[in-house]
Amino acid sequence: MTSIPQYKRVLLKVSGEALMGKREYGLDTDTVNAIAADVGDVVAMGVEVSLVIGGGNIFRGVAGAASGMDRAQADYMGMLATVMNALAMQSALEKRDVPTRVQSAIPMASVCEPYIRRRAERHMEKGRVVIFAAGTGNPFFTTDTAAALRAAEMKCDALLKGTQVDGVYSADPRKVKNAERFETLTYLDVLSRDLNVMDASAISLSRENKLPIIVFNIHAPGAFAAVMRGEGLFTRIV
Ligand code: UDP
Repeated sequence: MTSIPQYKRVLLKVSGEALMGKREYGLDTDTVNAIAADVGDVVAMGVEVSLVIGGGNIFRGVAGAASGMDRAQADYMGMLATVMNALAMQSALEKRDVPTRVQSAIPMASVCEPYIRRRAERHMEKGRVVIFAAGTGNPFFTTDTAAALRAAEMKCDALLKGTQVDGVYSADPRKVKNAERFETLTYLDVLSRDLNVMDASAISLSRENKLPIIVFNIHAPGAFAAVMRGEGLFTRIV
């Protein structure tokens, strides 16, 4: 296997739902371990990797608000959920001897580091996987936006979005048989066609910062490493 990565530094966004496996809620350890294995392989290629993990497998602010909670309060709960996922991923990576640091946008001194941009960059230079937890630290945002924000701050070469399918399709390929898969899209295509990739603020932020977004299947073993070599199936948004 040739392993010449095409990227020096990347940020991978994994949704909370991707960690559920076949469960309806919470974390599936085998799924977390499988993703950690793929991350470890990419680190072993010499790529500097950071992660943003969502919280939708545990709690979403929108759902809390729909059931009558104050939206901002519910969003803070959602952000705390992402910290749990980040700790689970840290544990899975460290079991594989991949050095990691969790940095939270909401300071939580006894659990992880606070988010400090320059320190995070230093960790990455040293080959540590930095897991950014608690989203942006602000309610009314999503972890997609947090991923675009941190990727821009870390001067990443690409923002990877790990999804359930191998790229962006014209319709959900699990429901629509002849849905078209795109090789390349522009940021404006995604926004104007309302393609379900990441939320609009994440796309806009990536566009402003000329940050390519690469969408691939997080559950295909080895896909993350393949994407790093420019191989396999993915959609590139530029
Ligand atoms: N959240 C927030 N601000 C942020 C990031 C996340 O308030 O910057 C909250 C929001 O309530 C969101 C929840 O955290 O619903 C979980 O994040 P998200 O829905 O993005 O997770 P994913 O869909 O990726 O699992």
